[in-house]
Amino acid sequence: MRIRGLWRVRRVLRQAEDYWIYSRHEPRCLVLMYHRITDGPPSVCGTIVRPENFEDHLDVISSIGQPLSLEECVAGLRGGAIPDRGIVLTFDDGYTDNLTLAAPILARWGIPATVYIAGTGCPTEREYWWDRLEALCLDSPALPAVLSIRVTGTIHRWSGAWGGARTKYREWRVGEDVPNIPRLRLYRALYRLLLRVPADLHEEVLGQLAAQIGPISPADGTSRLTGPQITTLANIEGIGIGAHTASHVPLDALPPRQVRAEVLENRTALEAHVGEPIQTFAYPFGLYDWRTVHDVRELGFQSACTSDEGVVWRRSDPFRIPRVTVLDEGADAFRARLQRLLLGNRPAPA
Ligand SMILES: [Zn+2]
Repeated sequence: MRIRGLWRVRRVLRQAEDYWIYSRHEPRCLVLMYHRITDGPPSVCGTIVRPENFEDHLDVISSIGQPLSLEECVAGLRGGAIPDRGIVLTFDDGYTDNLTLAAPILARWGIPATVYIAGTGCPTEREYWWDRLEALCLDSPALPAVLSIRVTGTIHRWSGAWGGARTKYREWRVGEDVPNIPRLRLYRALYRLLLRVPADLHEEVLGQLAAQIGPISPADGTSRLTGPQITTLANIEGIGIGAHTASHVPLDALPPRQVRAEVLENRTALEAHVGEPIQTFAYPFGLYDWRTVHDVRELGFQSACTSDEGVVWRRSDPFRIPRVTVLDEGADAFRARLQRLLLGNRPAPA
């Protein structure tokens, strides 16, 4: 999930850097960003890859690149030299399918991965707010003509002829311009609102919506890893665990004390489940500023991943590692995209 604005500037700078790297034939690595591997219904967050496509991705990765662990990539950065065509897999958020579906496929291919998990693994933790919001706005059979919620004293109201549930607009993704479909416009408005309200208000806002729309279960495949599942996942060879904050909040909007509290609560819980220090971090929603980077470094992490699109080269900052967002694409499209990123204008190896 990406946000517009400043990120456009960052993207232009990244493209200029990529051009420099390619023109000098610098060795480069890719850090891929996955979220969910599931046969469940598509999500407007664009975070689903189906298992058959994931299997094809691993085939492509093995044939055109060199699978690496994140630790190997970071060690290369610290040493000033990275292996060429290295490919690192990461998963964000900590969905249950990372254990049940992704891990067995990864083990079969012998490919390592790092899973960034938000929360604490407590069994009472609910599905993420964006998954529940998606179900409320898009899957409910009918919405009331007028919806209103009160957030920190302000009333927000939406009305419209909402139409039926979402079958016809599955192709839209939350980061794109929204087509003129009332339910999607409602979803995006609420998404933007919830993104920037304090995390402790999410439950109340979703409760207000459910009271008007009616209760609805989040889509299949949106459950999150519990503590014992995190322990099981961490014990699988090749799987590393990373921190991703307690509440999955945008850190660039929080005062430093809250940033540290969010990071430490999550890290402490994960370390209890994993039994080892957690040394890598991913910024929720890919949102960070220079203070966030400073805080993460000061808290003793060895690396941090962003959601900025780009390649890793020897001068990449280990605390601002760019990634490549993976789509639910088949082998040919995936191979073409990775080859373009890995090889630039160099000829493909025989
Ligand atoms: Zn995330």
